[in-house]
Amino acid sequence: MENILYIIAIAVIGALVFGLLIGRIFSSANLKGRAKLLEEELQKSADSLQRVIKDQSRQLSALQNENSDISRMIIIFPDMAEDITASINIDDLSTTIIKVSKQLLEAEEIAFFVVEKENLLLKTYSGFSKEAANSMMRIKIGEGRIGWAAEKRIIMTDEDFRNESILIKEQLHKGGHEGIKIDICAPLIYRGGLYGLIAIGKPSKDIKNIKKFLMMISHLSAATMENIHLISEIQHQADVDGLTKLYNITYFHKHLQIEIDKASRFNRNLTIFLFDIDNFKLYNDLNGHPAGDLVLSALGRFVKENLRLIDIPARYGGEEFIIMFPETGSELGMQITERMRKQIENINISFPQNKPWERITISGGIATYPLDGKDEKELIKAADIALYNSKKSGKNRVMPYEQSFVPLD
Ligand code: GH3
Ligand code: MG
Ligand code: MG
Repeated sequence: MENILYIIAIAVIGALVFGLLIGRIFSSANLKGRAKLLEEELQKSADSLQRVIKDQSRQLSALQNENSDISRMIIIFPDMAEDITASINIDDLSTTIIKVSKQLLEAEEIAFFVVEKENLLLKTYSGFSKEAANSMMRIKIGEGRIGWAAEKRIIMTDEDFRNESILIKEQLHKGGHEGIKIDICAPLIYRGGLYGLIAIGKPSKDIKNIKKFLMMISHLSAATMENIHLISEIQHQADVDGLTKLYNITYFHKHLQIEIDKASRFNRNLTIFLFDIDNFKLYNDLNGHPAGDLVLSALGRFVKENLRLIDIPARYGGEEFIIMFPETGSELGMQITERMRKQIENINISFPQNKPWERITISGGIATYPLDGKDEKELIKAADIALYNSKKSGKNRVMPYEQSFVPLD
């Protein structure tokens, strides 16, 4: 019995030891598995952490680039702004806009348009092909991307254009420039007025940044354009006679000198025509000074409307006028001025009723450089002598200067 108990005790102890051993063996295998799992988990999370870090560092460097772009733009912007606002005429401004857009925005293609009535006219461009420029020469406001941004009067990017409604998209495909890829259009708006537009293609920088700076450039350019217009308007007013709207004598003298120099350099002729209204004192006496003023302004209008762009007409004083015809000899000068004299007789002037006056006539004299005078003074004197001879010979005529004419006192 003791033996049996002993055997049983030994068996139980053996079973326990075996169980423990097996358990140990099993639990150590479990631990290894868990460690492996843990290791795998750790690897996975390290990988994903690395990915996040990489991603963030990419974002950070993009942000840094963006910031350095913006910082660079901010640093050079004051000089650019000064360049824009210092422009004294539209040609100057156009060149500056192209230069500034290139430097500041690093855009490959830039076009600058100015407004003329219902159209945008291409003033200058850079980077676009000749064909592209040809198709953008004149763009109707409202047509194509460029025309549409001008019509809406807001800066528009490629994304803005793509977000337009289907109906408007049809509009965006109108006009000759629909084939040209324009990425951003900035209209020049100042005090509600549309002055022009800057169109950019292939920008090398982020459109978001460009948009802000292009807005600043376009606003400054529009303000500068308004200033240029105002200055040229004031300048024009200073050069023009208020009643006849022809140039005043100061302007005429200045330009006569310039044109004589040109004629001398290129060995060309130049003719001047001095004329005076016949019996104008009597006209004033009969009809009153205001009626006389109407005749002077009608005559001014006629002269302005019947000349070439290169001719310069001026009110010489009182009821005397003078016109300079560059690149014109005596013979052609006589043809032109004789035709004018005849047309002046038919100018539509509402003469006061019951007064003995049916038409305005003029007498004139012409003198041609270099034959009749080698400088401004001699030339005007010769024309004056010819005019005097026209009056003396019976008025309502034009005569060319002749050396045989009696000199004036
Ligand atoms: P002639 O055919 O010889 O040129 O005679 P005329 O009467 O035209 O010449 P005169 O020099 O005697 O008179 C010029 C007149 O032109 C006198 C003046 O009243 C008139 N006149 C000059 N300036 C103006 C102006 O601004 N307005 C008006 N209404 N008349 C003017
Ligand atoms: Mg006179
Ligand atoms: Mg007169």
